[in-house]
Amino acid sequence: MKAAVLEELKKPLQIRDMDVPEVSGSEVLIRQNVTGICFRDILTVEGFFPRVSLPMVLGHEISGTIEKVGPGVKGFKIGDRVASLIYTPCGKCEFCLRGDENLCPDKKTFGETINGGYAGYVAASASSLVRVPDNVSDADASISACVTGMVYNAIKRVGGIEEGQKILITGAGGGVGSHAVQIARALGAYVIAKTSSPWKAEKLYSLGADMVVSSDSFDREIKEKLGEGVHLVLESVGLPTFERAFRSLRPSGKLVVIGNVDPTPVNLPLGLLILKGNTVSGSISSTREDMKKALELTSQGKIRAIVHKTIHLEDVNSAHSEMKNRMSMGRIMIDVQK
Ligand SMILES: [Zn+2]
Ligand SMILES: [Zn+2]
Repeated sequence: MKAAVLEELKKPLQIRDMDVPEVSGSEVLIRQNVTGICFRDILTVEGFFPRVSLPMVLGHEISGTIEKVGPGVKGFKIGDRVASLIYTPCGKCEFCLRGDENLCPDKKTFGETINGGYAGYVAASASSLVRVPDNVSDADASISACVTGMVYNAIKRVGGIEEGQKILITGAGGGVGSHAVQIARALGAYVIAKTSSPWKAEKLYSLGADMVVSSDSFDREIKEKLGEGVHLVLESVGLPTFERAFRSLRPSGKLVVIGNVDPTPVNLPLGLLILKGNTVSGSISSTREDMKKALELTSQGKIRAIVHKTIHLEDVNSAHSEMKNRMSMGRIMIDVQK
């Protein structure tokens, strides 16, 4: 099989011919059609994650059809369509046992400590898998862990969004944001999309945004138009938008951080935090339960993958540059069989 391999940090990925992985114990072999490119992959190449072991097949947005099962696999069989968490949970710690496996301190992440998704085949533990409904496309399955399931975790499980509440989504035109707009809409929220690229506004309205804001002082713009702040912020950018996003909250509002494009610490106005009784939380990745919910919404036709384009493995390095320059709207997928 062909795979895109990170051999040296800060260097282009190498396209290699590799053996299809062997499976043992409770692992399955997944034959993939497509996999998603995530901004996290770019950060991995640039050396942001110290735990990455090299050489490593990059990528973590894994889905496909089971072709082999290890002798210890229960609940899955050859021919099942599945999608995988972006990691393998330990299955034993307090977080795994209570269904918060995304917080497992001993999880192993695809594309960082175990070979990942930029390949035709992936060996994955059955404990990472959920079944994919028949009417859900390969692209939708591939993004159900890192994009749609992750957003579900952030805005529903952590953010507690309720029908009719107002949500502000920063980075709304990006690969995560464009799906967050759809999910928030599917959950019945009033959706305010913040993008620094005004040309994306029309698309954001078509995805379900009720309001699109682009100005630097978007907190004022929101309060002027709505007469009050928002119940929930999904902060998918980090430093460049954090303070204004925080100032967009109404009393008792919550800001959930899922993205951080710049490692510099942010300004948090503590006086406002206290006076308005606001909350700032983090949310990481998704659980299998979040993936099931996201796949259910997809199966009902309420959300769909926004695919900017589908490329071949050879073109993965130029796709990374394109994403860094924010030239795309939605996900770039790789056809890993080509
Ligand atoms: Zn991802
Ligand atoms: Zn665990």
